Amino acid sequence: ASLPARLSAIPERWAASTPEAPALHEGGRHWTYAQLRHSVEDAARRLRELDVRPGDRLVVVGENCALQVALIFAAARLDAWIVNVNARLSAREIDTITAHSTARRVLYLHASSKEAAAHAQRVASSAVTIDGMGELLAGPLNHDAVAEATQPGNEQVAALIYTTGTTGHPKGVMLTHRNLLFIAAVSSKLRGLTQLDRAYGVLPISHVYGLASVALGTLYAGAALFLVPRFSVEGLLSALKDDGLTIVQGVPAMYARLLQTVGGSGTPLPTQLRFAYAGGSPLAPSLKHEVEQLLGTPLHNGYGMTESSPTISQTRLESPRQDDSVGAPIPGVETRIVDADGVDVAPGQPGELWIRGPNVMAGYYREPEMTAATMRDGGWLNTGDMARQGEDGALFIVGRTKELIIRSGFNVYPLEVETALNAHPSVIQSAVVGCGTADGNEEVVAYVELDPRQPVTLEALQAWLAGTLSPYKCPSDIIVMEALPAAATGKILKGQLRQMAQQRKHH
Ligand code: ATP
Ligand code: MG
Repeated sequence: ASLPARLSAIPERWAASTPEAPALHEGGRHWTYAQLRHSVEDAARRLRELDVRPGDRLVVVGENCALQVALIFAAARLDAWIVNVNARLSAREIDTITAHSTARRVLYLHASSKEAAAHAQRVASSAVTIDGMGELLAGPLNHDAVAEATQPGNEQVAALIYTTGTTGHPKGVMLTHRNLLFIAAVSSKLRGLTQLDRAYGVLPISHVYGLASVALGTLYAGAALFLVPRFSVEGLLSALKDDGLTIVQGVPAMYARLLQTVGGSGTPLPTQLRFAYAGGSPLAPSLKHEVEQLLGTPLHNGYGMTESSPTISQTRLESPRQDDSVGAPIPGVETRIVDADGVDVAPGQPGELWIRGPNVMAGYYREPEMTAATMRDGGWLNTGDMARQGEDGALFIVGRTKELIIRSGFNVYPLEVETALNAHPSVIQSAVVGCGTADGNEEVVAYVELDPRQPVTLEALQAWLAGTLSPYKCPSDIIVMEALPAAATGKILKGQLRQMAQQRKHH
């Protein structure tokens, strides 16, 4: 089926066919599709009054809420680019993104975090009420903002999304209406979503997983989205009990917290879940298995990146897997696995994954060179991830090309070491980084978060690793942290850990 021209077609379609069906829930309130359409229209009117024009960047600082969703569709109606920024970022990070995006306006939604509230207080000039949804604060007009040329139909950029910054500075990824509608359509189809589904909207809409596969995917099917600003185990448990969730989509760190709090009883929780879903970072088979026991339903795995809107592959409902595969490529997406020279490797061998399809971004905003280096010859996106593909098409992620540690001439992919660490019952999460030594070599350093209920010594952890990994892959140091530094999405900020490891070395 052909995709509509704009994202705003999603609520419009259901408001026309099933206006009374619930679209959004947030803290005890709910909005039907007709009410959502009404709020979108009002928000679009307000944005015009705020002088937001086609081709402008509109920054929205907030955490998951109904108004944030309405503003996505309102910006789409105006052909403005939505730039959702997580309110948990520091004022400095918000400023950096706002400046890089050359936004005409910055809006603050009921500034939930202290940082964002203080920031809004400093810069906001007026309060605007959106009918049926509440109030927002608007920053001053940036007269220097230049509108970008608009593209025909759904090739127009809809969203500018900043990457996690795991490997360096966050990059602004331009995603088109077509990119996002394609993923919304595929997500809702592969999950078999119907209007009866009730999906948990806890992943930040400021990132593409929360935006495209969760929020837009749910609404594309006319189902109901339960918006939650932040993850907590208590919140998830009560939503499972009281809201009759049928689908939970999360990241591995979220499921690890759930297990840490309520795992191990042996009996599954009583829920109405059809399945659960993890993505965004590696899912350890041991974690997957325990979560499946606890939720009494399969935990599927999906792989992707901001640059691919985000989904590249996912395991299929009809064939749940027990291994650590991230599933087969989604329909419409082509894959190649290549060596350092861009030549296809032999079947089953590892190499860099390249992909092509309707989910590939328009490019990095204001970074033409980086765009050219990432999207090469004939529309292939170089993922920067090492993968191998099984005979049945299922992909396995080996690690990131940039994270490769070369220790005395031997290749070490942190992912393999993290997987071995995570399989230990005392380890909640781990992150492995390379640390350069004075003689130009690299050491393997592991940071771990441990379960206080299952005490373990570092010697015992080292012995555990020595039992499964070749000696050169075993970390020279294991460092315990109370909590690993994480982004709002739950992803571990490895750049910070790399710096810490380096500093530690020099002191
Ligand atoms: P930056 O590009 O700024 O360094 P980032 O790559 O972490 O940050 P994202 O786009 O959020 O930013 O993350 C995409 C990456 O996450 C992928 O390239 C891959 O390395 C990893 N990833 C995503 N899903 C999975 C998964 N299911 N299993 C293993 N790795 C995954
Ligand atoms: Mg990346």
